[in-house]
Amino acid sequence: DPRLKAISEAIRVVPHFPKPGIMFQDITTLLLDHKAFKDTVDIFVDRYRDMGISVVAGIEARGFMFGPSIALAIGAKFVPLRKPRKLPGEVISEAYVLEYGTDCLEMHVGAVQPRERALVIDDLVATGGTLSAAIRLLERAGAQVVECACVVGLREVKGQHGLNGKPLYILVEPR
Ligand code: IMP
Repeated sequence: DPRLKAISEAIRVVPHFPKPGIMFQDITTLLLDHKAFKDTVDIFVDRYRDMGISVVAGIEARGFMFGPSIALAIGAKFVPLRKPRKLPGEVISEAYVLEYGTDCLEMHVGAVQPRERALVIDDLVATGGTLSAAIRLLERAGAQVVECACVVGLREVKGQHGLNGKPLYILVEPR
């Protein structure tokens, strides 16, 4: 797809952020480029529009920058999966392991119904731990996770990350 090169080039790489040795993939510069941003959303919309998806679940915070546009275009609802203590209603929680310590994602009870077909969206997948927690949340609510989608990910990590066997779709590799 000829659009992918421009999408990749619109993502800024910031060395040593947020700590030494990390090559941070900054998608805020992609959002500044109207054509590349629109192409990114369009590629996801073309892929998911006829897959019977009724839920797009976005992971805080950068999954919120792509998920709602995709949800509106494919006729699905948007469900935010948030960091702890942000959602005001009753929640279910799933912890996941980070390089140092653990973190947690939460979802409102009642946001999805049993047997709904869900797409999980985030900006970037590294180990897959965050996506796995999102899958567990949706499955605990009875939803079926059709696929996880990220703008950036490593080809060689695809499918290896214990995403409960769920397919992973990524647009570009880290630069
Ligand atoms: P994982 O759980 O190891 O797959 O890490 C993925 C999570 O870390 C996602 O929520 C990303 O937003 C975040 N993340 C890790 N590295 C980067 C990066 O270089 N740019 C943007 N987000 C990152």
